[in-house]
Amino acid sequence: MNCELISVGTEILLGDIVNTNSQYLSKRLADLGIGVLHQSTVGDNRERLLRAIDEAFRENELIILTGGLGPTPDDLTKEVCAEYFALPMYTDEAIADKIRGYFVKKGLEMPESNLKQALIPEGSITLQNNNGTAPGSIIEKDGKIAVILPGPPFEMKPMFEESVVPFLKKYSEHIILSHNVRTFGIGESAMSERVSHLLENANPSVAPYAKSGEALLRVTAKAHNEEEAEKLISPVLDEIKNLLGDSIYGIDVGSVEEATVKLLKEKGLTVAFAESCTGGYCAKRVTDIAGASDVIHCSVVSYSNDIKNKVLGVKKEHLDRYTAVSDIVAAEMAKGIKEMSGADFGVSVTGYAGPYYEGCTDEIGTIYIAVTDGEYVWLKKLSTGRTDREYNRYVSASNAVNEVRLCAAAYPEKRSEGMRLDEFISTY
Ligand code: ATP
Ligand code: MG
Repeated sequence: MNCELISVGTEILLGDIVNTNSQYLSKRLADLGIGVLHQSTVGDNRERLLRAIDEAFRENELIILTGGLGPTPDDLTKEVCAEYFALPMYTDEAIADKIRGYFVKKGLEMPESNLKQALIPEGSITLQNNNGTAPGSIIEKDGKIAVILPGPPFEMKPMFEESVVPFLKKYSEHIILSHNVRTFGIGESAMSERVSHLLENANPSVAPYAKSGEALLRVTAKAHNEEEAEKLISPVLDEIKNLLGDSIYGIDVGSVEEATVKLLKEKGLTVAFAESCTGGYCAKRVTDIAGASDVIHCSVVSYSNDIKNKVLGVKKEHLDRYTAVSDIVAAEMAKGIKEMSGADFGVSVTGYAGPYYEGCTDEIGTIYIAVTDGEYVWLKKLSTGRTDREYNRYVSASNAVNEVRLCAAAYPEKRSEGMRLDEFISTY
């Protein structure tokens, strides 16, 4: 079965809101084995919406519309669908009572126009809205199905999951199951090259994607049930793990920080950051993960040279001679925060996030990261080649967090790859 998504709303056309509903539905329909061949967006306009519905049904048996179920005159979706199918509308008294009750409960006076939401196309299935007043509908007629959902995502998603998924399951003979292999530091093209023979696979298919300095492989199988799909995927995942090694930070995990926090917890290790160009981004990303308090001690945002010196103990002559964007300063920042916090790893980030300013001594996108356990130090220099401040800060934080992951994964054996911290500092 094929489906077209129609997003209704002038707000989307004007760029006032991002169409996250289509993204969500496309993903979920793919899971259900329903192909989305086309997506369209229409403003709040009767003629254009009618035309969009008509065109969508020429190539698809199913259309899913979101938005335009509210009480205002520009909310037209249900009426226009009823018009398309030539169905009269009637007031569903039970829904009308529910809407009245909703306002009483909130202590608000109900504008009469709200009862418009209780108007139902004859013969349609009503979808309960547990998070708002506008019910959804499914109209099934002449081999065509229109699913009508509210625009607000917090109403649309539960309605889709609770009512539409069970309805659609009877139309799909197979399921689609995907696993996402998330990698860091390898880059999309190098990753694709290493697994190139797998990219030809049909079932499961293996597809590379790039995302904010990371690369992921999506392994997708089509099968009659989940168990069968897992059986198809499992040997391919094993092969990918062999080929990509510790570039993989997780499978089906949300982010590199999530994988890092999990690993630190498992190993009973802790971390503290000294951040310059990231301005606290490392700490923010790590503390986004619930339970981070077990693994993070603190982060010092040492933006000025003065604070790098006074708080972290970075030598003034090093700052003057080598500037704040240098490996020696990164190492001393990491040492300072390690000593101050008592965490297992002290981690620093210092670099030029951009844009260019008078006084930059290196390319924008040059970033130094140091991790130390107090005795050894591991240094990384990034040259992102980009001048975009947000990108550079995000990627710097990702890399710093990933360095912690790599150190923790191979700790304490990792020490043999490091330099002696004091020896390194004394060479300057
Ligand atoms: P309401 O009863 O709130 O008017 P509605 O079903 O009529 O809901 P719209 O008026 O089209 O829906 O949109 C209401 C709000 O829902 C929008 O302001 C926006 O915040 C959100 N929304 C609508 N469509 C989308 C979409 N495609 N993606 C993400 N959010 C959306
Ligand atoms: Mg509306």
